Amino acid sequence: MPIDVEKVRAALAKVQDPLFGKDVVALGYIKDLLGDGDKARITLKLPTPAHPHKEEIEKAVVAAAKAAGASDVKLEVVSEVSTKMRPGGDKMAGVKNIIAVAAGKGGVGKSTVATNLALSLRQHGATVGLLDADVYGPSVPTMLGEPDVPPGQQTGQKITPAVHWGIKVISVGFFVERDGAVVWRGPMIHKLLQQFIEDVEWGALDYLIIDLPPGTGDAQLSLSQLLPITGSVVVTTPQEIALIDVVKAVSMFKKVEIPILGVVENMSYYVCPACGHNDEIFSRGGGKKLAKELGTLFLGEIPIDAKVRHGGDSGRPVIVGAPESEHAKIFMSIGAKVAGEVAKINGPGGGTGKRAPGLVQIR
Ligand code: ADP
Repeated sequence: MPIDVEKVRAALAKVQDPLFGKDVVALGYIKDLLGDGDKARITLKLPTPAHPHKEEIEKAVVAAAKAAGASDVKLEVVSEVSTKMRPGGDKMAGVKNIIAVAAGKGGVGKSTVATNLALSLRQHGATVGLLDADVYGPSVPTMLGEPDVPPGQQTGQKITPAVHWGIKVISVGFFVERDGAVVWRGPMIHKLLQQFIEDVEWGALDYLIIDLPPGTGDAQLSLSQLLPITGSVVVTTPQEIALIDVVKAVSMFKKVEIPILGVVENMSYYVCPACGHNDEIFSRGGGKKLAKELGTLFLGEIPIDAKVRHGGDSGRPVIVGAPESEHAKIFMSIGAKVAGEVAKINGPGGGTGKRAPGLVQIR
């Protein structure tokens, strides 16, 4: 018996996206719904390929269509990353969302998180750029290894970013000698960031990740003036002292009206590879508690692991070097949570504005 398409649509209107607390029909996710004899063909369009509830929604859509009489469901999932135009947003007209990764102090794993966050969003299917603005220790080039395409520059034209593992990358490290003793003063940082924003051919990106210098200084202020940052991710280790710095970082972002997407706790604990025992070297759980107190999302905790350090030092970050590892899974989950928070900021319906369409992923 042919299916009743309207009955299927009514059933789909009961499937919720927990991210927005609304149903998939009201959210405009049902791009196509067709009957094919006793089967249903559904195309679901999500506001990000890294949707944190993607599998859950897919399963619920299939189950709802079957309960409404479809003998089988052919489901296609596509995505168009949402964006929100803000004043000044035309500076990087093709970039839909800008995410700044910050830390109260150096050495907590900010660059590790920024790099793996960028790669995780790429793995999820988004088009991604990474801007390493950490003038004091531009470690992204080391972390990503040899580029597939080196950065280029032609006189009178824009700089083209390097390409590593499918993401576009620009780093202070490409332009400054490793041991060059540059004293970065506020106006210099401002000028440099401005160049990275205006003179780099970023093209169309769903997400641009910015690895900020540590602390709460000039770079953060400059960025808030130069760019419509969608939100920030704050990285910390669990020690009390590091957490105090997080409070400072969060209050600074609040002051310059950059939304906080959430807190990542790095070097949370150590799992002994020999016996599996969890050792909480720097204590644990502070990040979660703090995120709650600050009213922001806890994005995840990353254990200390030689794989992470080795991945960073050898140019093969865990996401690409050990994609099946627990660490890669944690980073993939952090990427999905960040993408979810960004989608929430952009709002249901996605306000696609004037920006260039992003990559449409079909699986
Ligand atoms: P930051 O950007 O905050 O200065 P990095 O990301 O450069 O910090 O990390 C500092 C060092 O710690 C690097 O050598 C990096 O590989 C290592 N590291 C970061 N996170 C971890 C982790 N979870 N386990 C092991 N080593 C880590």
